Amino acid sequence: IESKLPNVGITIFTKMSKMAQEYGAINLSQGFPDFDVAPELIEKVCHYMKQGQNQYPPMAGVLNLREAIAEKIERSHDWLPQVENVLVTCGAIEAIFNTISAFVHSGDEVIIMNPAYDAYEAIIDLQGAKAVGVNLQPKDYSIDWPAVEQAITDKTRMIIINSPHNPSGATISKDDLKELERLTKDTEILVLSDEVYEHIVFDGKEHNSILASEELRKRAVATFSFGKTFHATGWRMGYLVGPDFLMKEILKIHQYNTFTIHAPSQYAIADYLKTPENYESIAAMYQEKRDFFLKAMEGSRFKPVKSSGTYFQLMDYSAISDKPDIEMAEWLTKEIGVAAIPTSVFYQDGQDNKVLRFCFAKNEETLKAAADKLKEL
Ligand code: GLN
Repeated sequence: IESKLPNVGITIFTKMSKMAQEYGAINLSQGFPDFDVAPELIEKVCHYMKQGQNQYPPMAGVLNLREAIAEKIERSHDWLPQVENVLVTCGAIEAIFNTISAFVHSGDEVIIMNPAYDAYEAIIDLQGAKAVGVNLQPKDYSIDWPAVEQAITDKTRMIIINSPHNPSGATISKDDLKELERLTKDTEILVLSDEVYEHIVFDGKEHNSILASEELRKRAVATFSFGKTFHATGWRMGYLVGPDFLMKEILKIHQYNTFTIHAPSQYAIADYLKTPENYESIAAMYQEKRDFFLKAMEGSRFKPVKSSGTYFQLMDYSAISDKPDIEMAEWLTKEIGVAAIPTSVFYQDGQDNKVLRFCFAKNEETLKAAADKLKEL
């Protein structure tokens, strides 16, 4: 039987985490924290399980949670969505999957920015559509809008943006949102905005969400992740926000995909979201970790590329080796004992800039131990 995804293998995140385990390396590859969920939140999940919230919750999500999400959005972006415009999903990946499969037809084109999170292209391929890559600017990973404009054709159905950006840690500005408005206004081009690292933005900057733009809200879907925000990547809890005409189609996919999401976690997060401090505090916590890691790496021959958001730090290793980055990542894992993600896998053309991605969502001891090993190179 012919493969529907002939060019897709096991993801780089699974591959490097497995290799880290095999070789007993410190795992700074796949993005997940090595510290736990707040005990209070765990208690709440247990509470709702014991209370009997163990049967199918409503298909689009528990009302309390959708209300709490809407209120959170109002606090951050000065706009109160209706609960009908909020859908709770199995991680942001289900939100991304549903949105692409609801609207992208065979033969359509979707513009993605390289380096791009690997899932976008695979999901686009699955629709028989084409991912059209536009490279971010090499100097700071900002969006090259003239190149995006040039890439638009009459087949363009969607533009996918991602800020804070995985793997670079770059963040978009208000001007970027204006450009996106200009290019999509009065067209049938939809926008998918992957904002899973929305609360991890550094140096006093604010997160620029498409939800803050009245114009973009008309044709954009934004996706978010409780896994990232509450250190619970294993819970698979995310959500999306979109306008009525898009929600209608997305719900059709959701009801036959996951149908609905783990009930007790939804009730628990609904309560937990009522205290903004629970999510607002993570920016400072991660900034401290980024700075700790950068300081611990001082004197090394790895050259950091400034991260303004996410829990990833790029490092240029060209002063150490000219190995291709995939080989370099494997060698580091096996011989030096630190696992990282090669960034060439995020480029459709496999562009190798001799840059690795390190996840700093780790305890200080882990970061220090990794930096000590990396500094010897
Ligand atoms: N988003 C995570 C990362 O970039 C990986 C998630 C996964 O392994 N599917 O590291």
